Amino acid sequence: MGTCNLIIRDTEKGKAVFAGRDIRAGEFICEFTGPFCSMEEYLSLHDPCNNHYLQVDDDRFMGPSGNADDLINHCCNPNGGLVYRDGVVRYIAIRDIREGEELSFDYSTTMDEDGWEMECLCGDPDCRGVVRDFKHLPASLQEKYISLGVVMPYIVKKVRHSR
Ligand SMILES: [Zn+2]
Repeated sequence: MGTCNLIIRDTEKGKAVFAGRDIRAGEFICEFTGPFCSMEEYLSLHDPCNNHYLQVDDDRFMGPSGNADDLINHCCNPNGGLVYRDGVVRYIAIRDIREGEELSFDYSTTMDEDGWEMECLCGDPDCRGVVRDFKHLPASLQEKYISLGVVMPYIVKKVRHSR
């Protein structure tokens, strides 16, 4: 993958990442490459007001990489999602994306931490207002993300277990 896939620009919401070319649904866009850490390390390292950590497993978080992958914003109606497999976090398109569109994923697809939530500024007509844990999403949306393969496996396991 070339860096031409991704363009970083300043917006009124802060930095954001835009598609550098047309991308087809299902296409791989980029890898998330931050360092992994444990829950304990996460709790001492992250800044709750500017949290760039992702939870990828019960006791495994990915910290910020310092690259474009830190800057992909949340959206309640996203055009991308994260696939975690074999220790690698891949960001893929979940629908066709036009060159110049802002790239996003739904942060709730990685969240199950009972407590941390974030006010949402995505501006989509379907905006939920607050970004919360996956378990709080409507069941139909949970199923949609799970069938697209863009929910962290540790969360899918819990959802399956609770039904
Ligand atoms: Zn929103």
